[in-house]
Amino acid sequence: MLPWQPAYVGIGSNLGDPRGRVLRAFEALADLPDTRLLARSPLYVTPAFGPVSQPDFVNAVAGLLTRQALEPFFGALRALETDLGRTPPRERWGPREIDLDLLVFGAARHEDARLTVPHPGIAERDFVLHPLCDVAPDLEVPGVGRVWELARSVVDRGVRRLD
Ligand code: AMP
Repeated sequence: MLPWQPAYVGIGSNLGDPRGRVLRAFEALADLPDTRLLARSPLYVTPAFGPVSQPDFVNAVAGLLTRQALEPFFGALRALETDLGRTPPRERWGPREIDLDLLVFGAARHEDARLTVPHPGIAERDFVLHPLCDVAPDLEVPGVGRVWELARSVVDRGVRRLD
């Protein structure tokens, strides 16, 4: 049996009831095998990032503990995206029903064609750092830095709490 590892997952949606879908994503993450959901960040509304004009996103971060290994855990996230209604094709930077990003997985530093961990966009993404700072301000993102320090220096494009 593998040891419990902390894992942080970024959740985003901007199509078809984004708020409801993000809340369903928390439930689905809580139901993953050999995994516990420890923390749900507040929900945020974020202007879409990148060149495509599209609705605002609802974003959040889940803090989990898992006994799954990295690759099966990532595979489970991909499968959850499908369960939560993600439809192909996926335009880069385009709108999406649900997006689950594996932000941090314990101390893992991993890079192959399919998966990079820690997620390479963390330090530039206000919509990741604000909710991540709510659930894990002191987390050291391996090779990147401490969350509260990253959150303090990220350019904020107008992320706001959805309450
Ligand atoms: P997206 O369309 O933003 O969900 O991007 C998904 C693509 O990014 C997929 O091809 C994934 O295999 C790849 N990817 C690489 N690293 C990660 C990660 N840490 N979390 C989520 N997707 C990742």
